[in-house]
Amino acid sequence: MELAGLSWKEVEEYLKRRGEVLLPVGSVEEHGYHLPLSTDGDIAVAVCRELGRRTGILVAPVVWYGYSRSTRGYSGTVMVGRSALREYLREVLEGFGESGFRRVFVVSGHFSNDHLRAIEEAALLAGGVEAELLDFSRIDFSDILESEPLHACEAETSLMLFLHPEKVRMHLAKDEEIAYEGEGLRRTESGVFGTPTLASREKGERIFERIVSELERWVVERTG
Ligand SMILES: [Zn+2]
Repeated sequence: MELAGLSWKEVEEYLKRRGEVLLPVGSVEEHGYHLPLSTDGDIAVAVCRELGRRTGILVAPVVWYGYSRSTRGYSGTVMVGRSALREYLREVLEGFGESGFRRVFVVSGHFSNDHLRAIEEAALLAGGVEAELLDFSRIDFSDILESEPLHACEAETSLMLFLHPEKVRMHLAKDEEIAYEGEGLRRTESGVFGTPTLASREKGERIFERIVSELERWVVERTG
């Protein structure tokens, strides 16, 4: 169920029964030649919808702009700074509290460390509401994948082939080396970091199922 599609009276009814909401967070960020800028948000929304379907928890509208320093400088990547993201999210979380929600589960489809830290800090700082990042980048997929996952890689491309095949231009996928330079990743020509040509719909389905069932377990642990 989508929060944004309800009237305030319907939300009021929901809040008499339960107090949780799922908040997807994405990024507006290049994902190589073969995936759209919306990839992280698309994945976060799909995970939240399926998790919402299984647990009965409402899904809030996605927060699109995140912190994505590694892909800065590619056309289309639009980011906000760490502290702006933290403060914005803190106020969004407090807004849920003010509106009567008691617990917000944040699900991010974007995994840069600083981005995730900003979310965790916002969750910690938010007053009047319990908030927590359900960080699915901590889940192990190494038995499904044949290459190291990082960005626009085998994992993300597989997920998109399963969730939104119409958005994937597989013939443009280009494998690129994951290498570090100074504090960050060494820039690649296509903006891929990883091996998207190894992606498949089947792998995407298995990764998606693992994410959702693991997050469902975390949510049930916390809500009883
Ligand atoms: Zn991504």
